[in-house]
Amino acid sequence: MTDNDYDQFVIGGGSGGVRASRIAASHGARVAVAEEFRIGGTCVIRGCVPKKLLVYGSHFAEELHDASHYGWSVTGMTFDWNVLRDTVLRDVDRLEAAYTVTLDNNKVDHFKERAEVAGPNTVTLASGRDITAKYILIATGGWPVMPHFEGNEHCITSNEVFHLPSLPKRVVVQGAGYIAMEFAGIFNALGCHVIVVNRSETLLRGYDEALRDRLLQITMARGIEYKFNCPIKRVEKLADDSLMVTVGDQDPFPADVVLVATGRRPKTDGLGLESAGIALGKNGEVPVDDFSKTSCDSIYAVGDVTDRVQLTPIAIREGHAVADTLFGGNPRSTAYDCIPSAVFSQPPLASVGLTEGQARNAHGNIKVFTSDFRPMKNVFASRQERGLYKLVVDAGTDRILGIHMIGPDAPEILQAAAIAVQAKLTKADFDATVALHPSMAEELVLMR
Ligand code: NDP
Repeated sequence: MTDNDYDQFVIGGGSGGVRASRIAASHGARVAVAEEFRIGGTCVIRGCVPKKLLVYGSHFAEELHDASHYGWSVTGMTFDWNVLRDTVLRDVDRLEAAYTVTLDNNKVDHFKERAEVAGPNTVTLASGRDITAKYILIATGGWPVMPHFEGNEHCITSNEVFHLPSLPKRVVVQGAGYIAMEFAGIFNALGCHVIVVNRSETLLRGYDEALRDRLLQITMARGIEYKFNCPIKRVEKLADDSLMVTVGDQDPFPADVVLVATGRRPKTDGLGLESAGIALGKNGEVPVDDFSKTSCDSIYAVGDVTDRVQLTPIAIREGHAVADTLFGGNPRSTAYDCIPSAVFSQPPLASVGLTEGQARNAHGNIKVFTSDFRPMKNVFASRQERGLYKLVVDAGTDRILGIHMIGPDAPEILQAAAIAVQAKLTKADFDATVALHPSMAEELVLMR
């Protein structure tokens, strides 16, 4: 081991890379990580964390709107985008510092520069230095895809959206996936006019159809416009810096910001993996086996760069498993069959396990229980929006195969309910659980 500069060299200081570094070091390995941008990666720097803070910030609009029904008189209400933006960015700085301290505390060396693979056991830093390691871990994450259309240089992605110099009046969002629906909700709540354009007529592909329909209905009632089956053809910049957007054969319409959220692809350009005999997959991903090992025995890869499941907790699990496998004497892989997920749209939706369609295909005979209800806080505030919860159950074994929810706090509730799906509990177990009244979550144990 001592022939190399390090036991493990990690390229990429995001969720997967930092976890793998910290755990490997705790097992006694000599570890270094190289990060060309900022320690923390997409999730902390320009993804989950700042996004969630913007969701919180924008959600006050709903609370303030409903407050009068609860006796509060809110006058002179104003919103300052610069305050929210700067506070969020400061929190990102704080978290980056905390991640860096974690590396230091675990005696992980970190290089603030790009590193590329130069062979099975060698990386080359941007400054020109070669470093050798027994193992190399690729954790470079993903990067937003920008489709080709005329004027796409006038558009922004989720990389830039956290830095907008002012709150736009008119926002066009291209795509109808996670990022699109979350930012459509944020901008709509902050009072912007939002148009979502998508190449198909499906939003949030993969989520339960009834939940998606509910989200569409509620967000349209909240003022979001949708243009389906028409991706952007052209974006033109006018003399006053505003934009004109053309989709399909329709007349152009104006916008101040066009946010493109059409997926993320693995960040492997120029990474040098061919020098270790590793061929990239068709999306540019690093192909790996169940233990995150590439076709080269000394090189592993975790997180979005492997294009398995693009979620932070999965990258963290994969990174942890690699460290345990290589340095902890505990070879283990990551399970992908029961992953809870949420879209922080407004209202949010959350899901774990099989959708009704997937369950029918996999298990044949299933039962579906639904609760379509108006949350008490909405009734009181004369808000018409209804929540929808769904339990998908194997009719033969009574096992819960999936839980799908849309409504206030759905992700918070679902995280606890996901334990039941992971533990293979049955509908009878839910029925036997006493309701916690009054709550929205009690709907989960009251479906008959
Ligand atoms: P998604 O895969 O969620 O959605 C992509 C959207 O863009 C879809 O509506 C898709 O349309 C459309 N699209 C794809 N390719 C093109 C193209 N070439 N031209 C036009 N439209 C296109 O991607 P996101 O960018 O929203 O997010 C990336 C990933 O990040 C997610 O998959 C998720 O794993 C992760 N993420 C998770 C979050 C969370 O957990 N809350 C939050 C944000 C991101 P169609 O479906 O019609 O094909």
